[in-house]
Amino acid sequence: MASGKTRHLLTEIETLRRYGNKKIVVFKPRTDTRSGMNTIRSRRGDEDLAEEVSATDPSDLWPILSARESEAGSKFEIIAFDEVQFFPRNSGFFQLVKHLLEQGYDVLGAGLAFDFRGEPFGSTPDLAMLAEDRCMWMTSYCTRCGQRALYPQRIINGEPAHYNSPQILVGGDETYEPRCDEHFILPGRHYPGVDEASPQGSIWPLTVEAS
Ligand SMILES: [Zn+2]
Repeated sequence: MASGKTRHLLTEIETLRRYGNKKIVVFKPRTDTRSGMNTIRSRRGDEDLAEEVSATDPSDLWPILSARESEAGSKFEIIAFDEVQFFPRNSGFFQLVKHLLEQGYDVLGAGLAFDFRGEPFGSTPDLAMLAEDRCMWMTSYCTRCGQRALYPQRIINGEPAHYNSPQILVGGDETYEPRCDEHFILPGRHYPGVDEASPQGSIWPLTVEAS
């Protein structure tokens, strides 16, 4: 989504390298095909090299990190991740980050908070909890009205995507636009308790008569 998160990550990396003299290595999940192999790239075209790790089992980071450190002849100080949302919550990404922190690395991450359903996306919320006050939320603006936009509206062939379409589409023709609550459209979405088909809807009597 056009929030500038990758651009911000790249700016941060460049600043830390140039002025903080930090040794930084960048990783990204292998499902991200938009930037091209072993690269992260912002919409403006800035880019950096990135090592790819498995999205579903990112522990393959360790041998890559050792190899890169052997090549460099020293330890890295900062491990950066782009597209954190593509690491599912059950992938072990959170534990990996904890382990990196325990090993003395600093960790930088960028990710989308919400998926196209407007629901928490992969490991981003977990990582945000870990980052506490060092977490920065980027702001996007609704393409329809210019209000603050939280959600990535998925559009396929000019139409809003159905709720039941997969969370991650790899190499698809879909596009995304930031949208506010009012202009976020999600055909097929049902709220439990509100939808009449939901069993929760029938638990409570419609009227209660005084006895
Ligand atoms: Zn709007």
